[in-house]
Amino acid sequence: MSNEELEQLRASLDEKNKDLLKLINERAEIVQKIGNVKSKSGTKRYDPVRERRMLDLIADENEGPFETSTLQHLFKQIFKASLELMGDDEQKALLVSRKKHPDNTVVDVKGEKIGDGLQRLIAGPCSVESEEQVFAVAEALKKRGVNLLRGGAYKPRSSPYDFQGLGVEGLEILKKAGDRYDMAVISEIVTPTDVEKAVDYLDVIQIGARNMQNFELLKEVGSTKKPILLKRGLSASISEFIHAAEYVMSRGNTNLMLCERGIRTYETATRNTLDISAVPILKQETHLPVLADVTHSTGRRDLLLPAAKAALAIGADAVMAEVHPDPAVALSDSAQQMDIEQFNTFISTLRDAQLLKDGVE
Ligand code: PEP
Ligand code: MN
Repeated sequence: MSNEELEQLRASLDEKNKDLLKLINERAEIVQKIGNVKSKSGTKRYDPVRERRMLDLIADENEGPFETSTLQHLFKQIFKASLELMGDDEQKALLVSRKKHPDNTVVDVKGEKIGDGLQRLIAGPCSVESEEQVFAVAEALKKRGVNLLRGGAYKPRSSPYDFQGLGVEGLEILKKAGDRYDMAVISEIVTPTDVEKAVDYLDVIQIGARNMQNFELLKEVGSTKKPILLKRGLSASISEFIHAAEYVMSRGNTNLMLCERGIRTYETATRNTLDISAVPILKQETHLPVLADVTHSTGRRDLLLPAAKAALAIGADAVMAEVHPDPAVALSDSAQQMDIEQFNTFISTLRDAQLLKDGVE
């Protein structure tokens, strides 16, 4: 074969590549249109029956020289890429996605506008144990200008023999503390049927890590107008976390905050691994306020301050930490809660570092 002949064949191959490129992109445009129709009608993107028909058509029409199985393999790659293309469009359509809503969502919690650019602290005991205990913490927080009080009334414990929380009595104590110290109160609800009652006691309903994919609970809180604080699941990917948030928002509740609380890894030096990069990723991917729980992520009192500094420096809208008047006798999480003196040092250090901009000295 002469060089000239080779060049000619190569030139016609280039033309065919260009034709294929054009055809593949034209095909992709049709795929995107199909994706839009499907998302409007709520139809699943992947349709195996349809895919089988397309593969059969290729088999019927194939005149060679390629083997049908080779061509079917190549077309399967095109089908796969097409599904991903539709997936991209689906991501754009998520209600929590920043692509859908470019501005930051600001959640108003009793006048505290979380996500407005001021970085806040949310603190309180792991469990509500008594009125005296909650009031002692509330008073200490209030003195430092912290208006967001959290405490657990329903505790999802690993062992059924551990303290399970005071239940409604705990919610009553929190409400009393909120009224007395003019603070917003936050507590976890674990059962869908408790949501209706919780609305009367709480300013924010927390969905804990263990319930991030309790879809019935997510739908229930999504049907209220209460601000929701959704924690990342113990082993949840960011995408799973975002889709859990979508469950809440798809029911109409736009008062939603996300909380990174550490994920389970092979590392045993900390209780969980604080996924610090999740904070800016969630801020980029969604329009929701993003919080970081430094207590449950580290599980270590000595790491609360550096973890809080990191979380605030990387852009968290708020940090969550546990404070107890006497952690040594706490009914849960005694190794990681701060006492009131430690809390005062913690907040002063963050404010001195110009990280927490709210409150009083
Ligand atoms: C909590 O915040 O009280 C709690 C139990 O945390 P998590 O759900 O993140 O484990
Ligand atoms: Mn705790």
